[in-house]
Amino acid sequence: MKQTVLALSIALGIASTGAFAQTAQPTAPRTAPPAAPLPLPSDPPATWNLATLYAGDAAWDAARQALLAQLPQLKALQGTLGASPATLLHALRALSAAQKEAARLDVYASLKSDQDTQVTANQARRQLSSALQNQLAEATAWEASEVAAIGPAKVDAFIAAEPGLAPHAYGLHTLLRLAGHTLSASEEALLAGAAEPLSQPQQIYELLANADLPWPTLTVHGKKVRLDQETYVALRDDADPKVREQVFHAFWPVFKAYQRTLGAIYVAHLRGVAFDARAHKFDSALQDALSQANTPDTVYRAMVAEANAGLPTLQRYLRLRGRLLGLKQQQYSDIYAALVKPPRSYTLGEAEQLTLQGVAPLGEDYVKTLAQHFQEGWMDAVPRQGKRSGAYMNPGAYDVHPFVLTSFNNNYESVSTVAHEWGHAMHSVFADAAQPFELANYGIFVAEIPSTTNEMLLSDYVIAHARTRNEKIYALAMQLELLRGTFFRQALFAEFELKTHEAVEQGRPLTGEDLSALYLELLRRYHGDAQGVMKIDELYGAEWEYIPHFYTDYYVYQYATSISAAAYFATGIEQGDTALRTRYLDMLKAGGSNDPYVIVKQAGVDMATPAPYRALVERMGRLVDQLDALTGGPGAAK
Ligand SMILES: [Zn+2]
Repeated sequence: MKQTVLALSIALGIASTGAFAQTAQPTAPRTAPPAAPLPLPSDPPATWNLATLYAGDAAWDAARQALLAQLPQLKALQGTLGASPATLLHALRALSAAQKEAARLDVYASLKSDQDTQVTANQARRQLSSALQNQLAEATAWEASEVAAIGPAKVDAFIAAEPGLAPHAYGLHTLLRLAGHTLSASEEALLAGAAEPLSQPQQIYELLANADLPWPTLTVHGKKVRLDQETYVALRDDADPKVREQVFHAFWPVFKAYQRTLGAIYVAHLRGVAFDARAHKFDSALQDALSQANTPDTVYRAMVAEANAGLPTLQRYLRLRGRLLGLKQQQYSDIYAALVKPPRSYTLGEAEQLTLQGVAPLGEDYVKTLAQHFQEGWMDAVPRQGKRSGAYMNPGAYDVHPFVLTSFNNNYESVSTVAHEWGHAMHSVFADAAQPFELANYGIFVAEIPSTTNEMLLSDYVIAHARTRNEKIYALAMQLELLRGTFFRQALFAEFELKTHEAVEQGRPLTGEDLSALYLELLRRYHGDAQGVMKIDELYGAEWEYIPHFYTDYYVYQYATSISAAAYFATGIEQGDTALRTRYLDMLKAGGSNDPYVIVKQAGVDMATPAPYRALVERMGRLVDQLDALTGGPGAAK
């Protein structure tokens, strides 16, 4: 899950790394000190301490064997759920305990493997853990259909009669809600058999896109370079506009040449998804995807509508970029060009210090708790030979604490990643303390809100305390790119997905050429081609072929909704709205105790209304004003 998320964030153009699953000079002096000194050593622990999970590998294996030995007893619980409130409670407690231990075992196995992927024993342990998860899932696969057969009336009567069932009530109701879309056992078995062939379009796409496309060789700055997906990312922000154009004009024709085949592959995927949604009695693939977390589809449509309403602000930002880059006519190949070079580097200690200063608006308790956990061996921060790359937070060890992995390399992105991943970690700290195991684990729809809120608070702090004009410009540009990449770009993808799924669901023909035309229209509309903001060549209509996430349906919209909610919370909390801050912290404490849409709504942000999206667009507008004024634009004389 995590590897994929990281690889995807590059394709998606997201600045920071994904959920739970993101260059160095002498150190400059610290930024302006905070009001009160913070208790932080200059040398944070370099790696995590896994002994809090298990005393060692032998203890881990003993715990795994013990859990394996329990599987027959879990199987034997089948048929007991509906007998009485007491038997239901007994069974659910046993299932919970097994799931909790399995999750803890998996945290140890995956962290140990990530800290050194070259050790064979680590790989073997990871496979053992993965096999255990599958065996547990098999031994307990009867649960959902048995709860469905008991039915809502009897389940509710049991919950009323047995107070011990309270922590299980939300899970039971979710199973009952989804039961309406579960077919008979034989029908489900038939569909399960079709799942493998239906997943083939994605497999074929990955083979073609990652291995078989014929990449050209270029001469860039006098050096020969084989262009592929990796070198494209490395070269697309070159300081020379001619090089950027050269790279784009060599990269995109490769995808364009396979438009017909890649279109047939994607449409085959869409048809498979439509078939599965219909078979499970959903009106559409959108309804199917959103029903898992019970998110209303009005959220999706509100986000897309408000992204479109906010396009003048995106285009104002792009115009300003064009001026700062000194370009007469901006091209799509200029979209990744940096406005200024990174003005300074950071140590890990400074990253933690800055994060603490940035999140100060969240309150003393939050800051103190975070400062304390920074010192407790929860994070493996620095890249090493053999260590897994990227960044994530792993929340799986409920009775222990979350773990964080980053690849800290002294640049501003690394600092922002520390703030981001610890936003996830603190979410789990609050949720685990307030909720029983069954209700602690939160969904992706809410997960990216605290991480992005922390990134925004950090960025606002760095902007406000920049010591030089260059530092301020850099920090403004970084946040503006975060808003562009995580809101507008993901909204464009979301709009594309909706249109392509709907075309297939309505039985309209769809070819690779149609898909490129559709995508080109979106690119031009978002980036103001008709308004002369950015010129989009017809060639770039092929970009949809490059985005692997279109095979993970209706997922990326959550990046756009999360950053919008984060903009709403960060701005309000910075302005001193203490009631909003309390509701925000209550949202963290709510964990997974309700549907994520409801949890966010209870914090005062209804994601089906325009308010959060407008908060994001207004924030972007303010940052554009600041950058414009700072760089000699119309506001500069003030
Ligand atoms: Zn994240």
